[in-house]
Amino acid sequence: MMRPDGTALPPRRRGAIFLDRDGTLTEPRHYPTRPTDLILQPDIGPPLQALQQAGFALVVATNQSGIARGLFDEPALEAMNSHLRHLLAQFGVVLDGIYACPHHPDGIVVQYQGNCDCRKPTPGMLTAAALDLALDLDKSWMIGDSPCDIEAGLRAGTRTALLGRHTSDNATPNVVGSSTAGILRDILALATTSCGRPNRQGAAGTSGSWNRSRNSWRPEPEDSLRDSDEPTGAPISGKKEWLP
Ligand SMILES: [Mg+2]
Ligand SMILES: [Zn+2]
Repeated sequence: MMRPDGTALPPRRRGAIFLDRDGTLTEPRHYPTRPTDLILQPDIGPPLQALQQAGFALVVATNQSGIARGLFDEPALEAMNSHLRHLLAQFGVVLDGIYACPHHPDGIVVQYQGNCDCRKPTPGMLTAAALDLALDLDKSWMIGDSPCDIEAGLRAGTRTALLGRHTSDNATPNVVGSSTAGILRDILALATTSCGRPNRQGAAGTSGSWNRSRNSWRPEPEDSLRDSDEPTGAPISGKKEWLP
């Protein structure tokens, strides 16, 4: 595309779907450390593939303080990342990036100890991805099962979708759902019916028609802010405690 004066327009940046990993993209587990601990949430392949086809980048943003805590190391995380990519590839879904924060303020591994600007609820992973992948955060969504995910998205300037009920007063999501697949389908519907007309091609580039208040949702005050890498389910050996 050219401007009337003959100079090139800057390339159009696409939106992203930022996905928390544990409890959102994959089933909740107590500190996954091995590839086989990662099991995709049900029915997420088709809507992820449709969002990808609609033009969204798909980016994982995950707190993995288990590294700082000495529960597993970077190669183990790499192995989990590879497995995640393999699982998604079966649905034709390709992740554009996997961003993981290995830090924790109270970590025992010195290298990863202390405060950082990537651990959610800080938005560092999202803003880094936006730079790396030329993303438009205004056209992006952050999906997660923790208020920390929602807060990170809000601070980065994305729209936000919360899985489940773990809300807080300072992190009100745009969309709430009881399953990851349902949330993905909702976002797809919003993205592809902008201005009341189907807009599959380049839907990720549409913006401005979304009414933030329309789908706003009042949090239930009894739930408090949780760490976004706090285990959201029971230990691996136990029964899952999953939200309806
Ligand atoms: Mg989570
Ligand atoms: Zn970090």
